[in-house]
Amino acid sequence: MSTLRFKVVEEAFKRKPVPANAPNEITSDYYGKYVFNREKMAKYLSKSTMKTVCEAIDEGKTLSREIASHVAAGMKMWAMEMGATHYTHWFQPLTDGTAEKHDSFIEYVDKPSGAVIEEFSGKLLVQQESDASSFPNGGIRNTFEARGYTAWDPSSPAFIVDDTLCIPTVFISYTGEALDYKAPLLKAINAVDKAATDVCRLFDPRVKKVYAYLGWEQEYFLVDEDLCVARPDLLLTGRTLMGHESAKNQQLEDHYFGAIPPRVAEYMRDLEFEAYKYGIPLKTRHNEVAPNQFELAPIYGEMNLAVDQNIFIMMLMDKIARKHNFRVLLHEKPFAGVNGSGKHNNWSLGTDTGVGLFTPGKTPEENLQFVTFLVNTLKAVHKHNALLKASIMTAQNAHRLGANEAPPAIISVFMGSQLTAVLDKLENSSSEEAIVVDDKKGMKLGIAHIPEVLVDNTDRNRTSPFAFTGNRFEFRAVGSSANCASALIALNSAMASQLKEFKAEVDTKMQSGMTKEKAIFTTLKQYIKESKAIRFDGNGYSEEWKEEAKRRGLDCETSVPLIYDAYLTPETVKMFADAGVMTEKELHARNEVKWEMYTKKIQIEARVLGDLAMNHIIPVATRYQSMLLDNVYKIKAVYPPEKAEKLSHMDSDLIEEIAEHINAIKTDTDAMVEARKIANKIGDEREKAIAYHDTVFPYFDTIRYHVDKLELIVDNEMWTLPKYRELLFIR
Ligand code: ADP
Ligand code: MG
Repeated sequence: MSTLRFKVVEEAFKRKPVPANAPNEITSDYYGKYVFNREKMAKYLSKSTMKTVCEAIDEGKTLSREIASHVAAGMKMWAMEMGATHYTHWFQPLTDGTAEKHDSFIEYVDKPSGAVIEEFSGKLLVQQESDASSFPNGGIRNTFEARGYTAWDPSSPAFIVDDTLCIPTVFISYTGEALDYKAPLLKAINAVDKAATDVCRLFDPRVKKVYAYLGWEQEYFLVDEDLCVARPDLLLTGRTLMGHESAKNQQLEDHYFGAIPPRVAEYMRDLEFEAYKYGIPLKTRHNEVAPNQFELAPIYGEMNLAVDQNIFIMMLMDKIARKHNFRVLLHEKPFAGVNGSGKHNNWSLGTDTGVGLFTPGKTPEENLQFVTFLVNTLKAVHKHNALLKASIMTAQNAHRLGANEAPPAIISVFMGSQLTAVLDKLENSSSEEAIVVDDKKGMKLGIAHIPEVLVDNTDRNRTSPFAFTGNRFEFRAVGSSANCASALIALNSAMASQLKEFKAEVDTKMQSGMTKEKAIFTTLKQYIKESKAIRFDGNGYSEEWKEEAKRRGLDCETSVPLIYDAYLTPETVKMFADAGVMTEKELHARNEVKWEMYTKKIQIEARVLGDLAMNHIIPVATRYQSMLLDNVYKIKAVYPPEKAEKLSHMDSDLIEEIAEHINAIKTDTDAMVEARKIANKIGDEREKAIAYHDTVFPYFDTIRYHVDKLELIVDNEMWTLPKYRELLFIR
């Protein structure tokens, strides 16, 4: 009998909330306590050093070694006062999460005496060699140089975790190729700044810089720790590979925005308390659609820092969940049949003069600029829709996209009825109608009025993977466990390259004598026509949309390994080169890593599934079957044959049913193992990933089908794995 499952269920059910570490100060007093932010800089750095560092952050200027030494000295003093004994270069390799190797501050004063002092030089701050040959690198490191190095990113402030000073860094090979997410992200942010600034100057010559902003929304599940531990699939793969749907799940829609359960509320409070100390401006928390699913979101901010904060908080969420006897599940689809988790990336651009480029303006000039950025976004997303999909695609996210309650694996943009009307009007009017320049009154836009607050903002389409939401675009297809940077590198690069193209076209037209307004207008008009296929306001969940998208020529590929090909098409390679973000060599190397990751994830899942099928499911089903057989025997011993036949009829049916399922599981598991063996022999990473997708992965569903049927038949007391109703409803 499965006493273990009953025991953990009972304990999980009885568990009391762990009181949060209630702060006795107000939030603003401890906010940013662990971060070497401008306030700390002002205290620990000289005025001139501080000024130079701020310029480096704001204007991207490089810092001299001398300045770095001053910063290192100030940082060390602060860190030691905070009790830190170690430091680390904190970076984001192409795996999930971050990497760090701690070094202590101590150095010998002089060897003979054996005395030590704390040291942290500018050299150690700025750059470190990293023997990181075991990080994914897609072959870059093997072919050239075995070493790589991490280099300080002054635009993301250092922070302290426990006893360690963490310095955000990029991770690159000795030959200069990026081996991480941060290096290309910084380049992409820079590229979009340059390109957007040039375009903004068509409207306002005072603009010197355009910032890229990100506001992420992080969805997640919480599961009681003991229940999670009793599910090897959750523990090892982050998702359930089997489990029959709970009779009740999210049908009643009673979880979304409902009262936050007490154990969870304490968890959230603790998490926020910690996050505030790291200067992460968490703003909202609420229940999500699925049972035991929740969301948190900060106030949006500068993109590079916002990405770091998201990566950091994923680690923090896990750490604090353990204190509350929870496990946090960041996987995109931990449970079949209920909603998966995404990470909506709210993306916008804004000038140093304080204008949001996706915010409808007050004057016709501002509105023309607004429409310019809107239309260029449509054009960029249309042209690179396959790439944007590739940028968010992983083995995990593939389960979420295309499942019936999530956007399909097709990128489209929701604009809402008001903006659609504006774009239609622009498309169909002549420049004389659309833009009237009056010497006395200035410019007038003849196009439909653009209200400052767009009504569609409140009534927006939740099925769209990329939606305009009033003053920003919301890239919703991003997966909950992803590093936001992957999507944002692609998006900002595509936008940068598009804006460059736009500016060049407008310039050419102006050189041939067109007015600026007319040059902009005619270019936009052409773009609106060309990018029309990407606009879709209908139901993204519907089957009709899949057909329609195909007709429109949008990328409809669903195989993850093939989706990655979008990174290597001539258009993509050219786009990344134009934007100065990644070279063809880097793109190839990164794709090798993507294919390898895909294969490994499916391989691990296949192993776990095989193990569970063979040593959890089949033994339990066989035991139950044998119990039934026993019963049949006894009935036959006690009753006369005719009566016995009647009484044992149901048992006999079940015995056969169980036998069929067991046989199917065994046959499919054996076949899956065979398919793996064949796939494992393939040397080429792309081909291997395709083999895993096409020949191994399909067994997951067939095996699961039979396991889930058995779950319904086998005696509840014997079943060893916590069931969906327990995983999803105990909190
Ligand atoms: P919803 O769930 O309705 O989308 P939330 O309040 O949960 O809304 O999240 C919205 C996110 O969008 C927040 O992180 C918010 O800071 C961010 N955001 C708001 N305006 C902008 C903007 N102009 N640029 C980028 N992000 C923004
Ligand atoms: Mg949102």
